[in-house]
Amino acid sequence: MINVERNAADMSERTSQYRIHTYSAAEAGLFVNSYLIETAEGVVLVDANLLLSDIRALAARIEALHKPLLGVFVTHAHPDHFNGLPVLAGDGVPVYAAAGVADTIAQIADAKRAQWQPVYGDEWPDGHRVPDRRLATGDTVELGSLRFTMHSVGAAESHADSYLMLEDRAFIGDLAFNGTHPYTADGHGDSWLMALDAVAEELDGATLYPGHGAPGGIGMLADQRRYLMMLRETVGRLAGGASRLTDAQREELTVVMTRFLPDAPLTWMIGLGADAVAAELAGAVDSGVGTAPTETVVA
Ligand SMILES: [Zn+2]
Repeated sequence: MINVERNAADMSERTSQYRIHTYSAAEAGLFVNSYLIETAEGVVLVDANLLLSDIRALAARIEALHKPLLGVFVTHAHPDHFNGLPVLAGDGVPVYAAAGVADTIAQIADAKRAQWQPVYGDEWPDGHRVPDRRLATGDTVELGSLRFTMHSVGAAESHADSYLMLEDRAFIGDLAFNGTHPYTADGHGDSWLMALDAVAEELDGATLYPGHGAPGGIGMLADQRRYLMMLRETVGRLAGGASRLTDAQREELTVVMTRFLPDAPLTWMIGLGADAVAAELAGAVDSGVGTAPTETVVA
């Protein structure tokens, strides 16, 4: 649950002590958001972006605030949220994540690079950094005048997800994509849906800062839930119990989901995750970290 022990006067005073800047990548960088929380004492970064051109632009944005980077949080274990860590966080800057997120990054980062550096070339960083400050649900971190609380979620959109509270603001990573087609290729649809239900209760009244798309209310969690239900229903109908879709079925799925979420970008994500969804529905998926189909592990 959200910590609601503070009184309203305290909250408004503390809220006036920080400002949230959003850095959003372009389409090549999956529109991924990094959030900079600026206080009098320094800056806190939430999520570290994907491609080096964006990571460098984000570094310049931090530098232009002329304040020290106090710490970095990583919401979940996907490269569009952790790739920038070695560039953005100097050795003396603590990097925080839920323990499961840190463990998953340690397990997958080299494989992700081996797979995607040939595709992205110089845009993919040569190294990675595993978050060194491991947190559990309820752990708090004080940085400057700010107090953050970690909530570990477990497998949902990725193999390990979490959200981070700052007062009544929640940095939710990719628990919900707001206005784009989501990444569904890690095959945890069941647990993602359960997480959405639980988090919607926990975050009632909060402002949500998603990993992709604009901030908003908890309605984005219900929207994500409806999308996943529609996706699973359609994949199930098309696949008929098979653990893969044919190319024609994948195209039909893309038509259906594009109609469901018209004008939304990242439509290629629909086909990308289709087989993982089919495999999960068929009960054929071993959704352990090392077993995701190799073409499906970016976001
Ligand atoms: Zn993402």
